[in-house]
Amino acid sequence: MSEFAFELELCAHLESRGDDLLARQLGASVADPGGRILDIVAVEPGPEFDERAAITSAVIPDAAIEADVGTGRARYWKDAFDCHPERARSATERACEIGFFEREHRKGREYVRQVARYPDWFGRIVGIENKPDLGRPGDLEAQLRTDVSLGVVDEAILATESYVTRAHLNRIPDEVGVWRVHRDSGSALEFEVEIVREPTPLAVDEPGVEPLESHAGRTDIAVVDADAKRRRRRRLAERAYGKGWRTYAFPDCGACRATDADAMGATLPYCAWNGRVIDAGAECGPACGGYEERPDGEADVDLEGERDRRTPWVAKPDGKRRRQSGLDRFG
Ligand code: SF4
Repeated sequence: MSEFAFELELCAHLESRGDDLLARQLGASVADPGGRILDIVAVEPGPEFDERAAITSAVIPDAAIEADVGTGRARYWKDAFDCHPERARSATERACEIGFFEREHRKGREYVRQVARYPDWFGRIVGIENKPDLGRPGDLEAQLRTDVSLGVVDEAILATESYVTRAHLNRIPDEVGVWRVHRDSGSALEFEVEIVREPTPLAVDEPGVEPLESHAGRTDIAVVDADAKRRRRRRLAERAYGKGWRTYAFPDCGACRATDADAMGATLPYCAWNGRVIDAGAECGPACGGYEERPDGEADVDLEGERDRRTPWVAKPDGKRRRQSGLDRFG
């Protein structure tokens, strides 16, 4: 049973069920350093989702969102940030590159303004921990306890293929919802998600506690305030928007074929030799017993185009730059 295949196929299934934005493997810690990575993040589009999608397909840097740069008069970039100059410079460059800021030059100084107000674009955020085989739980209990005590996501879910016993339920926090995923049909579009237990909403607007390192007899913790959580949630939503879940690779091996997106819900790397979806970055290469070099290199797939067609994410928005041509006269 491959966790990777389970994760991709569950994403394909969830995507086919609604408009939530899905992404994989996103950091959810508020403390620094904190190691919590969520397997799947589902972000519900909020009231101004279309405004967000119209700005850029990429992640908008946090520092650029927080900078004191409005949509009206352009400001000297150095005056607009309350962070390290290098972070400010890199956020300014990136925000201009992706079309969130526009810039003009006056007397050798660079002035910036936002092309649009940063919108209120996301609603509930759900974190899903994948553990297809509960017989090999790894750090599952600690991970779910972190999600509940930290409360950065609105709901935490455990997704598994195993039969879920009372003993399993007793070992994880009561707030965590539990899904049993039936993948018998082979097509992610036809998976059945059995709700074993509904999740309890987490206290995202209140301070949280993030467990850090565990030592014999004690666990270090960080208390995180509600404002830090609010910023982390926005960053999580931004990362989910920019990244999505189709971040996997296809190998240059003839045994791999791309699944039919219409039949499976997404174009996935299916290995005929293993008889399952594979993680090319971790499993493929000449050292694999089934490897056969493809004469034409990697498979020709367009995952970005597929995301554009099948989800509310917009690959190439028209952008909101307003006075680009007129700006040059200030140079
Ligand atoms: S390298 Fe191995 S695992 Fe990867 S596609 Fe080829 S046969 Fe499958």
